Amino acid sequence: MYNAESNRVSAPKVGFASLGCAKALTDSELILTQLNAEGYQTVKTFQGADLVIVNTCGFIDDAVKESLDTIAEALAENGKVIVTGCLGAKSGEDGRNLVRQLHPSVLAVTGPQATQAVMDAVHTHLPKPHDPFVDLVPNVFGSAGIKLTPRHFAYIKISEGCNHRCTFCIIPSMRGDLVSRPIGDVLTEAQALFEGGVKELLVISQDTSAYGVDVKYRTGFWNGKPIKTRLLELAESLGDMAHGYGAWVRLHYVYPYPSLDDVLPLMASARILPYLDVPFQHSHPDVLKRMKRPASGEKNLERIAHWRSVCPDIVIRSTFIAGFPGETEQEFEHLLSFMADAKIDRAGCFAYSPVQGAAANDLPGMLAQALREERRARFMEAAEAISAAKLQQRVGVTLQVLVDSAPGLGKKGGVGRTYADAPEVDGVVRLLPPEKISKTLKVGEFTKARIVGAHGHDLVAQPI
Ligand code: SF4
Repeated sequence: MYNAESNRVSAPKVGFASLGCAKALTDSELILTQLNAEGYQTVKTFQGADLVIVNTCGFIDDAVKESLDTIAEALAENGKVIVTGCLGAKSGEDGRNLVRQLHPSVLAVTGPQATQAVMDAVHTHLPKPHDPFVDLVPNVFGSAGIKLTPRHFAYIKISEGCNHRCTFCIIPSMRGDLVSRPIGDVLTEAQALFEGGVKELLVISQDTSAYGVDVKYRTGFWNGKPIKTRLLELAESLGDMAHGYGAWVRLHYVYPYPSLDDVLPLMASARILPYLDVPFQHSHPDVLKRMKRPASGEKNLERIAHWRSVCPDIVIRSTFIAGFPGETEQEFEHLLSFMADAKIDRAGCFAYSPVQGAAANDLPGMLAQALREERRARFMEAAEAISAAKLQQRVGVTLQVLVDSAPGLGKKGGVGRTYADAPEVDGVVRLLPPEKISKTLKVGEFTKARIVGAHGHDLVAQPI
């Protein structure tokens, strides 16, 4: 009798390291899904793997260093390394590929969004398994592929690339112009994710508001019904779909174009979470012009006031840059006073740091690093005071909390998030042990909780 067990060829093992932002994470998920579908086994370690793939980030200097260190580590521990991702698209000062220049022994280097090129390199250096008895690892998300996030939340990428040319950013040179995914594909993936147990879907792209611009908002199809490739229709469909699964939909990287006003009622009626991640980067019109920011002509304070009038519960997250080239003290103070008026709920700030290849490097008036850092610290002091005051206002309120961690069914408490907290970037809710002995907390489930305190960026709550 044929013994499948004894004749089984063990699947080749591919070590995988995924660095960088949520967009890079979705690239990793595509590569892992393909490896999985072809019968490769994926492991998190470098030692013992037959080959290693490192998905890199090339955005800021710290990320470049982390990526280069990881490549060096993979080469030392394994020796057979394929590099992909944003750093793979970067050139060194002499115009040669930076990764190849620093690590000539890597097997192959590709840029971001290069699943096929990565798979070609894998096939060359670690041939495809031929054993028909190699099982495919079960994949709970079906057509949505493998996800690197915990099972109860997932990022969904709706487009690639960007049509803007912000002077501090090199993403368009690495990822190209905007290419929107067909709306039917996005909705099919979303449904597979909800079916697989996702309770929070995080919509990402480089510019979520621009979804469909490249295809002139063409009509696509989903479940036989026509639907426009546009943020409003996408948000409506995702919101309605999520409702059926008792799940959340959260929008990231949205720009304050007037068309966003159409999406606000969906937040006010809780079809999608009343949470807006809008990267303002600055407030002063001259700095925004030097940054070549999208929507730089918008009157953002008025827009924010309008959003809050339509949806009073809205939570606004944003990121800013302090010490951009040429920023005067008066321009920086404009930013501080914008913060005081706009009362951004969740704000992050980077001290400007030159990114190799960015147009902003050629702008006059580069500030000393100490001054850039000092402005960042002043900004964060103001931002944290605003955020702390906002969190204090939540004490006494009862909110839905999505549980992220709850050892022992929450008998000693757990950690979760409300609609106001995106994973990884915002604060969390520290859940106290439930008072009722019969109440349990489970990862990926919602619990109601009464907010009893606020510390730093986090809340403390009593599950009820
Ligand atoms: S909008 Fe600007 S910062 Fe964002 S990806 Fe496009 S060019 Fe870069």
